[in-house]
Order: sequence, then structure tokens, then C-alpha cells
Amino acid sequence: MTVRKILAVPDPVLRKRARNVEGITPEIRALVDDMVETMRAAPGVGLAAPQVGVGLRVIVVEYAEGSEEPRKEGEPPLKPELYILVNPEITRRSRTKVTGDEACLSVPGFSGEVERHADVVVKGHNLHGAAIRIRAKGWLARIFQHEIDHLDGVLYVDRASKMWEIKPEDIQDNV
Ligand code: ZN
Repeated sequence: MTVRKILAVPDPVLRKRARNVEGITPEIRALVDDMVETMRAAPGVGLAAPQVGVGLRVIVVEYAEGSEEPRKEGEPPLKPELYILVNPEITRRSRTKVTGDEACLSVPGFSGEVERHADVVVKGHNLHGAAIRIRAKGWLARIFQHEIDHLDGVLYVDRASKMWEIKPEDIQDNV
């Protein structure tokens, strides 16, 4: 496994629509392994293949659902779940939208306020070719919308109602 270089704006690869993955080859497995390692090293909670310069529809997300809620004293930390999705798509979106602050590993030094659907259903395939369906809400739903946008060449800055500069140490939950 290798930590790959994360591309930053204005790299044109970030603006291209990624292609469907046609089959799970050793190259796809290696890409996913590297993406997981790159996401963890960043650190981040999500990464899309175009962010490492590969124009394919693959995302990885690692997040403990509910971890944005305050924890009670003595409560054990939530265990993050790793999601690996090939050819993901959002098949259902709640009418309810929520505003939250996002940052992106490909847009260093900034954060912004973005409105997203509160709940989404994401469908895709895992590395065994099996169909996966995930119902996500809260921050996890936001991460999936952010990552799947990357596959269409869309960055959160396109959707942000306002943006501001941040120091690297203030960044949390990069995607
Ligand atoms: Zn991003």
C-alpha cells in the first residue's frame, strides 16, 4: 500500500467526470488499498479516486455514524466503519436539507458552508462485485454527497454559500 499524492485545485483532473469501473481488477484493488491509506494518512474521512489523479468512479469513506453528537462521559468512542464503493450513486434524497461546514483535502486552507440533503440512499458495488445499499443520515450523508460530487467533477466550493480561510490545525473531517 502506498500513500498517493492528493491533487489540489486547480488541477484539471478534479474537474473531469470520472468513468465507470468495468471490472474489479488487481489495479482497482491496489487503487482502493492506496486510497484507504491515503485517506487515513491525510487524515480524512473520505476520498474519491479523482483526488489521487485516477478518473474512475471509486470512493472510500471511513466514519463513525453519530460521532458528531457529543459523547457522554465514560462512553466508549464509536468505532468508525470503512465503506468502499465502486460506481456509487445516490438513488434517494430527502426533501429536507441541512447546512453544515465542509472542508476538502483538494481545497487546502478553506472551509465553507454547504447545504446538503439530510438523508440519502447510496447504491454501489463492493470489491467482490456485490451490490451494496447504504442509508446514510447526518454527517455520513454529507460525506457521501461530497465524495460522489467529486466523481462528477463537482467541488463543494461550487455549492458553498460562503467560504472562509482556515488554519490546517483547525481542519476536521476532511473529505
Ligand atoms: Zn473533497
